[in-house]
Amino acid sequence: MVVGDIATGTDVLVIGAGPGGYVAAIRAGQLDLDVTLVEKDAYGGTCLNYGCIPSKAMITAADVAHEAGNAEEMGIHADPAVDLSAMVDWKDGVVDQLTGGVEKLNKANGVNLIEGRAEFADENSVRVAHGGEGQGSETIEFEHAIIATGSTPIEIPGFSFDDEPVLDSRQALALDELPERMVVVGAGYIGMELSTVFAKLGTEVTVVEMLDSALPGYESDLARPVKKRAEELGIDFHFGQTATGWEETDDGIRVSTEAVEEEAAAEADGGATAEFDADKVMVAVGRRPVTDTLNLEAAGVETNDDGFIETDDRARTNKSHVYAVGDVAGEPMLAHKGSKEGQVAAEVIAGEPAALDYQAVPAAVFTDPEIATVGLTEEEAEEEGFDPAVGEFPFRASGRALTTGDSEGFVRVVADEGSGFLLGAQIVGPEASELIAELGLAIEMGATLEDVAATIHTHPTLAEAVMEACENALGHAIHTLNR
Ligand SMILES: Cc1cc2nc3c(=O)[nH]c(=O)nc-3n(C[C@H](O)[C@H](O)[C@H](O)COP(=O)(O)OP(=O)(O)OC[C@H]3O[C@@H](n4cnc5c(N)ncnc54)[C@H](O)[C@@H]3O)c2cc1C
Repeated sequence: MVVGDIATGTDVLVIGAGPGGYVAAIRAGQLDLDVTLVEKDAYGGTCLNYGCIPSKAMITAADVAHEAGNAEEMGIHADPAVDLSAMVDWKDGVVDQLTGGVEKLNKANGVNLIEGRAEFADENSVRVAHGGEGQGSETIEFEHAIIATGSTPIEIPGFSFDDEPVLDSRQALALDELPERMVVVGAGYIGMELSTVFAKLGTEVTVVEMLDSALPGYESDLARPVKKRAEELGIDFHFGQTATGWEETDDGIRVSTEAVEEEAAAEADGGATAEFDADKVMVAVGRRPVTDTLNLEAAGVETNDDGFIETDDRARTNKSHVYAVGDVAGEPMLAHKGSKEGQVAAEVIAGEPAALDYQAVPAAVFTDPEIATVGLTEEEAEEEGFDPAVGEFPFRASGRALTTGDSEGFVRVVADEGSGFLLGAQIVGPEASELIAELGLAIEMGATLEDVAATIHTHPTLAEAVMEACENALGHAIHTLNR
């Protein structure tokens, strides 16, 4: 211990107050453990402050503006004016409400909150440096630790987030003036969600992606309607291109790119190199775990080659008293996966027989239209040795979808042909992120196609599409032709 340090002890030390860490702390508090939660920046982590919540608030606001200005078919004539600064203030208000709630909930569950940056001193203690000059530091000894330090955006050569025109997603969500032109590097889910926001608000958006498609992690028939709608919004895609640098010009910046495969890109994009004029460039090429600033060696906790901490099905690291949850513990880097891991870690520490089960982790992309998936795709089901039965229902055959003016996309269910057990589902279309919950529950409950098909669904709702897709897999859908 450093001279002058105050040393305190705790049963459970949680590092990081994102959806992995704060949920772990609350659950541990509920289980009557003595818990200390250390956070260096803001309660709620990336998710509440700079990720899920602010991006969804901005997506909703951009949708309102776009829909109001494009509802002539419904007899509505409007020309909405966007005040980005007021929109960002509204978004910040939503964030403040939620982060304040996280702090209150933790306190109400008896969690001891400490502001500062933690790093391991040895296998059973951390040093916490408090922010600001003269704030000092303290040592905390622990029986168990839960590492929940999350992830941070990856920088690429030539683009530093310290440079004013170069933005990460957090900076893009805090702009108070709308850029006229923006280059987005990366067509993964963050790149696509934010490109859509800016395009809907009136920015001219150019997307540069190394691979040959948008949302490369998703099946092509799910990604296709999203790319089509993005192009209708004026987003200009350049695939097979990697961004190499930027320079200032008289009226903004110029972003240069290089073809990944010279010949293919020369044909596709008219050259092996290209340049795009813009006011801002947002780099959204992925995120890396925050494990390099924790002095993990002192605790003897190991990471893999990509910096992630490997864990077992009880969220334990190679050191059985140290747990890791959320983005630091690997893919999928999603808030709800981290929260579940946090709950399991707390319960295991309390001696409960909890374990993780990843068979039904949903994922959603809040683009236009939305994409949501859970469980296995048809291809994955085949690879796992199932004989899959597949059913689909298009939203153009849904009465409710037509009344919302948004009938692009479909629901697809994948089940085991012999037993009828649901194995997975993929949805692209309106409210996909909400609809997927029914299928997640069905898989978790071990429901069959018959169970979902026999469930009476409210009419007219988008959820009827889930029932119809199951009926389609069984060969007796009513509102669409059967396969
Ligand atoms: C733009 C964007 C949109 C997203 N949208 C979604 C979405 O719609 N749905 C979804 O499920 N996921 C989404 N995500 C991902 C989601 O934000 C993460 O998966 C989630 O936040 C991970 O939670 P976590 O608790 O592991 O880490 P984080 O939320 O990153 O929290 C980690 C916390 O640890 C703190 N910390 C780090 N090091 C230390 C230290 N040494 N000492 C003390 N504190 C420390 C950090 O300050 C941070 O507050 C999005 C992410 C981004 C960037």
